[in-house]
Amino acid sequence: MSKKVSFGLIIFLLIPFIVIYFSEFEIDITDSTKFTFSDEQGLPYDGEIKFKDITLEIKNGEVIINNSYIYYFDVSDNLLKSKGDAYAYISRDNLSLSYTVFIDDNTSNFNEIPIIISEDDFKIEKYNQFRYNSANINYKYDSECNWVQKTNLEKAFEELSDSTILNFKESENDIKLHINCFDYNNINDEGNYILGEGSPSYYNNQTKEIINGTMNFYKQTEAKRCIKYPSTEIHEILHSLNFGHIENKNSIMHPGVGGNLCNELSEEFIDCINSIYSNSELNCKDITFIIN
Ligand SMILES: [Zn+2]
Repeated sequence: MSKKVSFGLIIFLLIPFIVIYFSEFEIDITDSTKFTFSDEQGLPYDGEIKFKDITLEIKNGEVIINNSYIYYFDVSDNLLKSKGDAYAYISRDNLSLSYTVFIDDNTSNFNEIPIIISEDDFKIEKYNQFRYNSANINYKYDSECNWVQKTNLEKAFEELSDSTILNFKESENDIKLHINCFDYNNINDEGNYILGEGSPSYYNNQTKEIINGTMNFYKQTEAKRCIKYPSTEIHEILHSLNFGHIENKNSIMHPGVGGNLCNELSEEFIDCINSIYSNSELNCKDITFIIN
């Protein structure tokens, strides 16, 4: 499953050519960078590209973006430094695939970056890990949530959309995630509050596609809960993405998260999510799944 085109590799292969061609120019933070997306035959792909602070449309295989969204100017050495990787969402034949566009400090030497995505990528028969069919995941509140529940959930979706390849959006169409809130406390046999629950609901064992998932949230007023960070909500969203529990007191997927344990989303989950949803080699160290 790892016969995928690496952008790093493409940029690397093009360096000798581009360096000769562009070395006359001094690339500046106020300049723009053009990204082009095509297959091996040169046929353009359309879609969207997400940088840290902006999402732009890729039209006829092209998108031009001001360098200030991609880099910051480092005064210590007068060089442009990467603000982080970007994510591309490419559609063809009704299938939407997402990719990590690796952006490092060297990328700033180029004002045109050609990205070639193999046509074969769009002939997927089976995902390499259970996942939703797109990195754009729509959700819906099936029942009314109170202000605290909703504010925490929105914060959690924002945190995941900002730090991973995924984009969560409230919608009435193509809903993948169903949210239910209850206005009563849920206490388990040991007398502990259950703040929420989440898991994939329907999935296809052949294609490894999660068709939809569900999350339930219970009243939290009498329970101890995390105030500064939506740990419980991110924990349940991760369950609905098929992540299981981890017996590590520092992990957001520790079964006891919420209350006194307000762990944050860590790099292992970001790497794992990004590898699953960019169809690249799995990078899910120390992570467990609900369905395998
Ligand atoms: Zn849990």
